[in-house]
Amino acid sequence: MNRIIPLAFAILLSAPLIHAENHDTREWFKGNTHTHTLWSDGNDFPEMIIDWYKSNGYDFIALSDHNVLQEGEKWVSLPFIKKRQRAIGRGAVMKCEARFGKDWLQWETRGEEKGIILKTLEQCTEELAEPGEFYLLPAEEISNSGSKKPVHINAINLKEVIPAIKDDEASAQEVMRRSMKAVKARAKETGRPILAHLNHPNFQWALTAEDLAAVAEGDYFEIYNGHPGINHLGDEERPGDEEIWDIANTIRISEMKAAPLMGVATDDSHTYHGGDVSPGRGWIMVGADKLNGDEIVIAMQKGDFYASSGVTIDRMNFDEKINQLTLEITPAEGITFTTQFIGTREGYDAAAEETGIGEVFATVKGNSPTFNMPEDALYLRATVTSSSKHPSPSFEGQKQQAWIQPVGWKAE
Ligand SMILES: [Zn+2]
Ligand SMILES: [Zn+2]
Repeated sequence: MNRIIPLAFAILLSAPLIHAENHDTREWFKGNTHTHTLWSDGNDFPEMIIDWYKSNGYDFIALSDHNVLQEGEKWVSLPFIKKRQRAIGRGAVMKCEARFGKDWLQWETRGEEKGIILKTLEQCTEELAEPGEFYLLPAEEISNSGSKKPVHINAINLKEVIPAIKDDEASAQEVMRRSMKAVKARAKETGRPILAHLNHPNFQWALTAEDLAAVAEGDYFEIYNGHPGINHLGDEERPGDEEIWDIANTIRISEMKAAPLMGVATDDSHTYHGGDVSPGRGWIMVGADKLNGDEIVIAMQKGDFYASSGVTIDRMNFDEKINQLTLEITPAEGITFTTQFIGTREGYDAAAEETGIGEVFATVKGNSPTFNMPEDALYLRATVTSSSKHPSPSFEGQKQQAWIQPVGWKAE
């Protein structure tokens, strides 16, 4: 694990260059906050999915099933498991028995049907979590709908289910606001840091950039989600997730004097036996003091994290005195990195292609890109793109990337 210099939250403190020797004890922790299991519409046992993440270099994983935490008793029939896996029959059962032993699965016949009682998060934690090494973060995908459109919000580090809102009369934006408020109210009531990110806004074209801007109660959204069906790139008429980010943040900062959205990358994995909604595509790197739910959420609330689909950043710093953003990208043999420094200027022309919203101020090659924010910029962010293809692409031609949170902005 590298020692790190997390990005100081832009406006809260001036951020002189910090060096490792001044006792920064924070580490980067790699985690995915969006995964589905047999507790909802994923097609593998929770312990197998957790085991995959644990053995693939992750420090934490949030199982985020739809409207449920993995607690209490959940029985699933064998035909149901088989159907979920489509053609591969007893594969999930066989793989689980091979990994955890013949006595591991808890079989129970109900009526005529053989089935299995799923392991709870608590049981999985007992078996697979390791203090300081691997953490299971409780989570729920609150699967709301407004005017029949999906308004999915992942809440992490929560203790009890937050009920989903289904309202055919209310707009998706209104439902998003109500659900985000419900999460904040729960955090306040319980005194527990809970973080909510709005998922896949372009899924069924449910939410626009203007919706995301308007719901100031929402602080985070998925800049990347590995599900191939979520319209990550938008289409001819509608912006992709990265453009949505710039539009929403420009509106927030310039018109609402509100803080920008921060971006997370996730898997939203459902299929673990082949299939195209697989794990390992997107994650966050969080710079935290300790590996537990409270510390992860607190670090993210400070902005000490970035989103990735393959690019690793060793250090990042925003020097507020000279408005300079500097990244140190982890080098990789034979791979080059291109960083785009992006933002929007005051008095922007929303219709202009190149100097409007989400202007690319500079494109810098190399492992140590640095850029001084223009004086008239409302904010500055960076996207790093590797020359290397994504090993498990969710869209054609996908390259590995990292997304750095907006800095240099001012809010009231
Ligand atoms: Zn969803
Ligand atoms: Zn999901």
